[in-house]
Amino acid sequence: MNIIVQKYGGSSVADTDKIKKIAEKISKRVNEKLKLVIVVSAMGKTTDNLIKMSKEISANPEPRELDMLLTTGEQVSISLLSIALNEIGVKSVSLNAFQAEILTTNDFNEARIIDIKTDKIHSLFEENDVIIVAGFQGITNEGDVTTLGRGGSDTSAVAIAAALKAKCEIYSDVDGIYTVDPRLHPKAKKLKYVAYDEMLEMASLGAKVLHSRSVEIAKKYGITLYCAATFSNEEGSYVMEENIEQPLVTGLSVMDNQTQVVITNLPVDYTFVNKIFQSAANENLNIDMISVIGNGSSLNISFTIIDDKKAKIDEALARLSKDYGEYNVHYYSGFSKISVVGVGMRSSSGVAAKFFKAMGGIPVKLVTTSEIKISALVEEAHKLEAVKSLTDIFEL
Ligand code: ASP
Ligand code: MG
Repeated sequence: MNIIVQKYGGSSVADTDKIKKIAEKISKRVNEKLKLVIVVSAMGKTTDNLIKMSKEISANPEPRELDMLLTTGEQVSISLLSIALNEIGVKSVSLNAFQAEILTTNDFNEARIIDIKTDKIHSLFEENDVIIVAGFQGITNEGDVTTLGRGGSDTSAVAIAAALKAKCEIYSDVDGIYTVDPRLHPKAKKLKYVAYDEMLEMASLGAKVLHSRSVEIAKKYGITLYCAATFSNEEGSYVMEENIEQPLVTGLSVMDNQTQVVITNLPVDYTFVNKIFQSAANENLNIDMISVIGNGSSLNISFTIIDDKKAKIDEALARLSKDYGEYNVHYYSGFSKISVVGVGMRSSSGVAAKFFKAMGGIPVKLVTTSEIKISALVEEAHKLEAVKSLTDIFEL
């Protein structure tokens, strides 16, 4: 049996006309003698609206109840799509996570998939050509419904593809993966191939094409992902194993709204470093671009956070100040983190030199590197200039 998993994002199923169009598109593949598992997100801005309604009642809804609410969105779109397929003569059934047996942890709002049973899907294919599965949702051992975190239906689709050893196609309003966000740089090029590790860096750096965990699963199980626009025939991009001839730098990504936190005049006591990062981790605060400088008589620490986490960090720092005496904390906002990513960097030297050459006289506040990435923190005012010059130098 030749099975393909396809995923359609929220904007692709935003209204019933679009749902009918997708049904037509799916029926063409059925005519090619394929069996399809279709994973869909909730219609349009449904999930946002459901969250908004819950917030009108409570600032902190119980995570379990929130998941109960949010999973309704996908249940609407899967059934409508199945009705649309049946209407044009395609045999299909829709399944929620309970029916599809998508088992997750009980971390409500950010559950992780543990297992997907495929017996049901296989037996339903005896009578049907299309099986539509609700994205974003799962079920715990105890029978509670969970969600996988915002954007999680990509992860549902890839996990199902892995369980079925099938190909996976991700359709959305974006027509592929670009070297740079085309809104930042009009000459951005669409990439035909992106390596898993590059996509992981780019996904976590804010390229909103794919949910990061979906890429992790694809990498782990060797599933090639094809990302393309729903309503266009233009060729999309493939996320897959890296090949030998990788360019040095494949893409550039930009993350705005960065605040640099600078703590000066700390006692030379490195337990502070441990404590501040520990309390950030406990609160699920993502700390990035860290620098620790000791100059003999005092310690200075600097790191970056997303702007809206400032209050939380401030609380954590205030708690610590009891044990570490008087130190100064400064917050500098209005920064962007610009990163170049490429698995080709692993085998080349001189990338940093090229990077700084491109930055020219632009003040770079912090730098971090990994085997396949260089990131720099710059003032937002210099962002476009940096993007332009990096795209030129690395021929993006
Ligand atoms: N509907 C969910 C969300 O808006 C899941 C998804 O779209 O992937 O986050
Ligand atoms: Mg998405």
